[in-house]
Amino acid sequence: MVGLESGLAQWIFDRRCCGQPGLMAVVISGRGEHQRLTAAALVDAVITELKTHFPHWPAPMDSRLIRDKRATFCAKVGVDTWRPHNRTPIAGLWLAGDYTATDLPATLEGAVQSGNQCAKQVMQSLRGPNVVN
Ligand SMILES: Cc1cc2nc3c(=O)[nH]c(=O)nc-3n(C[C@H](O)[C@H](O)[C@H](O)COP(=O)(O)OP(=O)(O)OC[C@H]3O[C@@H](n4cnc5c(N)ncnc54)[C@H](O)[C@@H]3O)c2cc1C
Repeated sequence: MVGLESGLAQWIFDRRCCGQPGLMAVVISGRGEHQRLTAAALVDAVITELKTHFPHWPAPMDSRLIRDKRATFCAKVGVDTWRPHNRTPIAGLWLAGDYTATDLPATLEGAVQSGNQCAKQVMQSLRGPNVVN
């Protein structure tokens, strides 16, 4: 994972670690100049940036642009009333993820916090109500 400070591309993830060697995922987050570019122009601009930072990389064989405008929930006033808790009414079904009730927006920190609090509750439910830790 590499962070870039100038230009359009912000993060590069080498998908080799996910069993996809040779695939690079470039992330642009939030609003910006990229929104005004066509798909082809944006891909060209990112490829040009990658060439600048990594001149030894071969030219990409293919590319795919995904514009996901609802990738995370909008942290607007009142959103917490919609966020589910880790425990569900269904026995044995638990929820963990950034969208659950964590008091944090959709972030990595929120996702980790949700996983931790969910795991603690699962352990507690397995141990029974009278056992601490
Ligand atoms: C473009 C972008 C930029 C971001 N930048 C930042 C940032 O800079 N800092 C930050 O803190 N957060 C950032 N976030 C938010 C952060 O990525 C998320 O909050 C976090 O990844 C959520 O983690 P999660 O485990 O809840 O869900 P996810 O990471 O979304 O994991 C859910 C997983 O479930 C899998 N899945 C979904 N449905 C199914 C199914 N039916 N069967 C099997 N698997 C399934 C998905 O493939 C995925 O792997 C960004 C998000 C986006 C989209």
